[in-house]
Amino acid sequence: MKASFQIGKIIGIPIKVHFSFIIILALFAWAFAAESFSIFGFVIGFGGFNLSLSVKFLLGVIVAVFLFICVLLHELGHSYVTQKFGYKINGITLFIFGGVSQTEEIPRNPRQEMSIAIVGPAVSTIMGIVFYLVYTFINQLSGSLSLQIVSISFGTLAFYNLLLAGFNLIPAFPIDGGRVLRAGLAMHMDYGKATKLASGFGKGIAIFMAVFGIFYNLWLTFIAIFIYFGASQEQQALGVSLALENVKVKDIMTPNVESVSPDMSLRKLSDYMFAHKHLGYPVIENDKIVGTVSVLDIRGIGKDKQDSILIKDVMHKNFLSISPEDDAINAFKTMAKNHNDRLIVQNNSEILGIVSWSDVLHAIKMRENQM
Ligand SMILES: [Zn+2]
Repeated sequence: MKASFQIGKIIGIPIKVHFSFIIILALFAWAFAAESFSIFGFVIGFGGFNLSLSVKFLLGVIVAVFLFICVLLHELGHSYVTQKFGYKINGITLFIFGGVSQTEEIPRNPRQEMSIAIVGPAVSTIMGIVFYLVYTFINQLSGSLSLQIVSISFGTLAFYNLLLAGFNLIPAFPIDGGRVLRAGLAMHMDYGKATKLASGFGKGIAIFMAVFGIFYNLWLTFIAIFIYFGASQEQQALGVSLALENVKVKDIMTPNVESVSPDMSLRKLSDYMFAHKHLGYPVIENDKIVGTVSVLDIRGIGKDKQDSILIKDVMHKNFLSISPEDDAINAFKTMAKNHNDRLIVQNNSEILGIVSWSDVLHAIKMRENQM
């Protein structure tokens, strides 16, 4: 996620905070300071106390920070189990809707996915119950002001942890309950079909939640939109990785590409492309690759200027390489991440070909038609 910064590392996992998280933290702190309402027997907020606003706000900040530590612990629960199964976690980002873990690869093993998904709500439930027990214990003691403050703090944490657990168990993919549902389905059918069903179901719930939220609580509508797009994105991402399963870079690359020299003019390059029918070339100088150039680099340069501009003036010096034995999905990810439309396929220093964005898309289309 852009606009996020790292605050530290826990069990080797970078913990990042997105700017939207700071806003929600402040909103929660403010709500806890200004309001006081009762829900399911829990009193939430310090608004009812006869204290100065700054003290109430300070209390609000403390409870809000603890609440988000609980959200972080929920995510760390997911991450811990994910790592136990041998998968890499790139980081946890806290943002406006809570936390999200960036996993290199979501295990395509239903039992593992189920354990990973269920542990987050389990952590929240346990914390909710523990806070609830402390809350009821404190409530039995005499009601001095400081004890009341502690009681409200524990009650608030108990309520929100139980809410978080309950909410996450709604079977709306891609939230935890939806992942549990997909994993359950995947035990009885193939993975693509299970994802399709779980995403469809998740989208249905999201639409219902969005409409319900318009009348009762707009926050629910926002979360529903987030779930809806999350479900679509996950479905697409899985579609791509299923389509490229067992496909190597060497299977989809354009081999034996001709190369061009950095001193060639763009006019000559244009003619060269027309003759050779390729849209991108490695630029070679003294048997070494020094860059790449593609049809996009000529676009927008008038014919009158093409004689005086050379390839070396427009070529991309920061080209990326990939090994022919690498998985095609990695070529896809590398290009997407770096906003690059082609990679040089290289074995040691020998150039074997080029793999382009359209090569990857073509391979995905071919495979999807076969499925
Ligand atoms: Zn979770």
